[in-house]
Amino acid sequence: MIKKTLFLLITLSCFTVQSQNSKKPNIIMMIGDGMGLSQISSGMYSNNNYTSLERSKYVGLIKTHSSSNLITDSAAAGTAMSSGVKTKNRVVGMDDNYKPVKSILEVCKDLGYSTGIIVTSTIVHATPASYYSKVKSRYQYEDIASQLAKSGINFFVGGGERYFNNRSDNRNLLAEMEDYFFATSIDKYKNNNSNKIGYLTSYDDPIEKHKGREPSLPSLVESTIQKLENLDKPFFLLIESAQIDWGGHDKDPKHMNSEMIEFDNTIKTVFDYIDNDDNTLVVITADHETGGAAITGGDLLKSKVKNKFVSGSHTATMVPVFSSGYKAHNFKGVYDNTEIFNKLFEIVNQ
Ligand SMILES: [Zn+2]
Repeated sequence: MIKKTLFLLITLSCFTVQSQNSKKPNIIMMIGDGMGLSQISSGMYSNNNYTSLERSKYVGLIKTHSSSNLITDSAAAGTAMSSGVKTKNRVVGMDDNYKPVKSILEVCKDLGYSTGIIVTSTIVHATPASYYSKVKSRYQYEDIASQLAKSGINFFVGGGERYFNNRSDNRNLLAEMEDYFFATSIDKYKNNNSNKIGYLTSYDDPIEKHKGREPSLPSLVESTIQKLENLDKPFFLLIESAQIDWGGHDKDPKHMNSEMIEFDNTIKTVFDYIDNDDNTLVVITADHETGGAAITGGDLLKSKVKNKFVSGSHTATMVPVFSSGYKAHNFKGVYDNTEIFNKLFEIVNQ
């Protein structure tokens, strides 16, 4: 009898330990759009010679070209990283024969994950869209919004309200998305306990950080991680700092560096979180570099940098990948951007 009870207890405790350990890891994917080494370095020198990326455990480099061009756009690069296929510029969530492909967010969702997307562009912009939509052209914003409405993503935050409620087909997606609570302020977003919340932060593109964009990306990330934790399932969270790219296109160091510093503060928030959670992986990378940015002068003590740009567009230089947390070592090395998907797929499916 005692032996039997003991056997039962040991079996039970083994089972408990195993079920705790087999909880799928959380994934936090962070993309700095247009964030090459010069953007990171400029942000760092503008910020007392410090970047939170110094806290990452591993560093790698990825090749960014698309299937059609040496110089990728955000649609093709987003699709490569989200879904593991090289596609043509402008194409979102499809291979170069326009066959829809499954994204890592969708893979995670099918595995029972909760999901979230937070961006500083419109929510229908190419990078976030590549995680939940399939369209031949990234500029089909209304179609992308319709697909978001059906995606089942738990929490999404970004601009672009017009693509939901001022559409050419006269549909009002906000009314159609009955299972969602739509927040109209950071407080309402924070305080609502619904498991599906949309927060459209602006009618069109959100404004530039240095012109006063609120709420801040770190505050949105902090409250979204809390919400995802409250759902008590593993989660996949995509965070995109979209406007580092826009600063590069405009050859505007003030725009580029202020976005970079906000992204850096967001990285700090995420690292503070994973310091206390060894079942979360964070991967921080870029879709491509923008502007061929260089640092041509400055003053370290005054946190000032001088930038020059060789292009008003993207460049084909490799971009860095930083990783920390659960199985982060898988992301070191030099590889193609499609491997970001493959490595994440392997980790969530083991
Ligand atoms: Zn761009």
